[in-house]
Amino acid sequence: MLAPTSTTGFVRPMSAFPPDSFIVAEVAPSPNFDERKDARTPDMILLHYTGMQTGQAALQHLTKSASKVSSHYVVFEDGRIVQCVPEERRAWHAGEASWAGETDINSRSIGIEIVNPGHEFGYTDFPLRQVAAVISLCKSIITRRGPISADRILGHSDVAPSRKQDPGEKFPWGLLSESGVGHWVRAAPLNLEGAGLKPGDRGDSVTRLQRTLRSYGYGLVETGHYDEATRLVVMAFQRHFRQARVDGIADPSTLLTLRALIETRPQPLG
Ligand SMILES: [Zn+2]
Repeated sequence: MLAPTSTTGFVRPMSAFPPDSFIVAEVAPSPNFDERKDARTPDMILLHYTGMQTGQAALQHLTKSASKVSSHYVVFEDGRIVQCVPEERRAWHAGEASWAGETDINSRSIGIEIVNPGHEFGYTDFPLRQVAAVISLCKSIITRRGPISADRILGHSDVAPSRKQDPGEKFPWGLLSESGVGHWVRAAPLNLEGAGLKPGDRGDSVTRLQRTLRSYGYGLVETGHYDEATRLVVMAFQRHFRQARVDGIADPSTLLTLRALIETRPQPLG
């Protein structure tokens, strides 16, 4: 057989690499990665949904060079885990983002794409087998790489609230937390009595809300005005922590959940 030449249009396959974990079923190398800046070791896990009609379409998208996007892992509905980028490398999944004052989230994180059509194509519940695989994968990453603080296991919407909704309000963060993955509190009930805050409000209580969200990590400026950016961050907070109603209004249930979250925050890792 003739060796492929550059004139035939033959595309040289990306060289495979050994998977980082034995729970990986398959390696599907993506060309879309570079080096972590400042030789960062990842101390954050970022969860996404694929937001495409099928998992196979998503995997193709994440592994073709023209798309300029990738993630370290893709987790299918049946729990199958495919690795696309070695953990040591910087995958391109976060885009323009911010958390705890940092903006190069790709250099800090390991990205996991969870197959789900997403809000655009008929958002579905995440099958339990898939959730179990995400939990196992997160635990494998934490065990192998050393401690990753529970409050740095986040959703894409947490770090890019103005652009992203994934993995969304159906993602069972509570189940992850029960398995020791991520920081989460049971949400306060809806329809509590008391004063809340809403878009358009101004004053010190709005500043305090912004400061509190910011102290947890959300990228938000303290303006004292419940502006659009604040509404979007409150929605991101609700998608992760108060999933029963995602409306961008800081009602008493949202405020109480936020307070409980701050009070139970894990100590920073030494
Ligand atoms: Zn995403």
